[in-house]
Amino acid sequence: MKFVSFGDDRVGVIDPIDERRIRDATGLLPPTAPWPPQNMIRLIRMMTESPDLLADSLVNCPVVPLAAVRLNAPISWPNKLMAFPTNYEAHIDEMKSANRSNVNGFFLKANSSLSGPSSPILLPATKGYSVHHECELGIVIGKGGRDISPERSWDHIFGYSCLIDVTIRGDGERVMRKSFDSFTPFGPWITTADEADGTTPLTLSLWVNDELRQEASTKDLIVGIADMVALVSSVSTLYPGDIIATGTPAGVGPLRAGDTVRIRIERVGEMSIAVVQGSSAPHIVFPPR
Ligand code: MN
Repeated sequence: MKFVSFGDDRVGVIDPIDERRIRDATGLLPPTAPWPPQNMIRLIRMMTESPDLLADSLVNCPVVPLAAVRLNAPISWPNKLMAFPTNYEAHIDEMKSANRSNVNGFFLKANSSLSGPSSPILLPATKGYSVHHECELGIVIGKGGRDISPERSWDHIFGYSCLIDVTIRGDGERVMRKSFDSFTPFGPWITTADEADGTTPLTLSLWVNDELRQEASTKDLIVGIADMVALVSSVSTLYPGDIIATGTPAGVGPLRAGDTVRIRIERVGEMSIAVVQGSSAPHIVFPPR
């Protein structure tokens, strides 16, 4: 199934019978305050505890035309957004990096950098610095846990999304260079792990203005999907809705205002994101150059 967030934190699934429609499952959740927008996390938790509940109830969920809604990032307020750097050999080569994910581990991005398939990437006022696209598979955690073994990791993965890890190149702290608002386009939905099976290779592709910039397979990950879940859970307790950005393959490059960047992951989904100049004030760490 494909799980979507839309409108004012409404959540549902793409109707498996007619993909032009959403089944709005918001009413299945106990009512809560509208903020923070965490209904998808609550729906994922419900699914991990009662996997048949949604399937049984779906037929009674209200129908909404997909074309009539604005899709949000399927998760916008997770407990954690973790990311693996330098996790493909060819990207390590192109960056001439001394780091490897299996040696240096992972980092965090600000959760507030997440943005949805309807939102543009806003370029900050960092004149003279390259803002790069990184095409990545996003893992969404279902059942939480700590010290999860690689063998058990698959039981903790709810599904996968397309994820672009937007990055300012430079010497500033990595977390800051990657944490501007809109620097983690995520979506267009979460495809559950039964539909997009991470145990078999997935091809990921990224275009800028229809020029293919990145294409690779998850079979070339240095730290694989199960080992990433195991590694992060050896440090932090994982919760439903936590997100892992799995690292970019080779072919990273600059984004400019006016570009359209398109990401597609086999069996997961596809989305096109506009790139626009934001209006942030000049930045002391990125002075004009
Ligand atoms: Mn990355």
